[in-house]
Amino acid sequence: MAAPDASRVETTEGDDTPLAEQLRARIHASGPMPLAAFVLACLHDPVHGYYRNHQPLGMAGDFITAPEISQLFGEIIGAWTVVVAEALRNAEPNDAVRLIELGPGRGTLMSDVLRVAQSRPELAGKLGVHLVEQNERLREQQRSTLESNGHQFSFHDALEDVPCGPSILLANEFFDCLPIDQLVWQGDSWRLRCVGLDDSHQFQLQCGEQASIELTQLPEQAPEQSATLETCPELPELVSKLATRLRASPGVALIIDYGTSETTYGDTLQAIRNHQHVDPLSRPGETDITAHVNFAELARLARRNDLNVYGPMPQAQFLTELGLVQRLAKLMNGADAATRNQLELAAGRLAAPGAMGNVFKVMALTSPQIGPPPPFTLESQP
Ligand code: SAH
Repeated sequence: MAAPDASRVETTEGDDTPLAEQLRARIHASGPMPLAAFVLACLHDPVHGYYRNHQPLGMAGDFITAPEISQLFGEIIGAWTVVVAEALRNAEPNDAVRLIELGPGRGTLMSDVLRVAQSRPELAGKLGVHLVEQNERLREQQRSTLESNGHQFSFHDALEDVPCGPSILLANEFFDCLPIDQLVWQGDSWRLRCVGLDDSHQFQLQCGEQASIELTQLPEQAPEQSATLETCPELPELVSKLATRLRASPGVALIIDYGTSETTYGDTLQAIRNHQHVDPLSRPGETDITAHVNFAELARLARRNDLNVYGPMPQAQFLTELGLVQRLAKLMNGADAATRNQLELAAGRLAAPGAMGNVFKVMALTSPQIGPPPPFTLESQP
């Protein structure tokens, strides 16, 4: 994701990583590759992929996320989780609630959530914690964070591996990691953007074949020449798996990410290394590559799979309606001046419109029989 305060800086480093060599060989053999295939290799190549090997988060990593900014974020999600878990327990009193996190990073969000849940011991004993993570280095960190706080949990490679049952699913900055394709409007057709090689064998974005992708949602206005439209090839299957789970047993998924409420034209592909924006084609496997989440498309897919959709709502509104100001006041009470200052800055980063407050959005997807979780209401349905 974008480090919110990073400024755009192009690097002068070469492109040579072990993965760059492999990708060049692939392009030599088979021609330019669609952007999503290139990004998939950069992020998830089993040996060299960024999300297989790197420690992406924190000051020593490449970017910072909301739970890493302040405990305020995780504690508010924790209070939300308690309310939702109690409602699910009322609906299915004999079943434990599976608390699932997709892409738990350093385990900070889950740790903060579980600390809040422990304030209700009768509930905490009925929560099973399931972490969906493929990155071994991050698994180690998640293990150490959660074990040092005495929590039990299990790891899974994918959502479908989590045992079935009532569930609460958290995904903060997970959907933005899904590889995207880009279509470019040229003449009177959409062409697939591909990654090829220039004369000096450096990676280069090129316009490929006429796109055979089914475009389910288009912005209202007609595209101008060279307009870009993004699609996320893995999204339909992920939403379908999520929906299979939420239709089989009651549950709620909370998806937090940066993105748009409408389908819009534009190139949102971005790459971060060492807290700086860099060229997405540079140093494959060592660079975090993400894109804005299209919440309109996410909502459309969820509804097509019979889920209820609430939101998206700006992160600022979500946190404020769930008590950000009150929680801030409580933590400030009795804290020293330096801590008070840090807390105020953190609350600003999470909720100010110019920081994460507006561009980050929150959407809840629920089982067909489950109503809106707070702070959503029936009016929050798009
Ligand atoms: N949610 C965390 C981390 C966000 S970074 C936070 O807010 O701090 C993205 C996370 O998703 C990382 O843990 C990364 O390893 C994981 N991830 C990305 N793609 C994944 C995939 N396809 N399957 C499982 N985990 C994935």
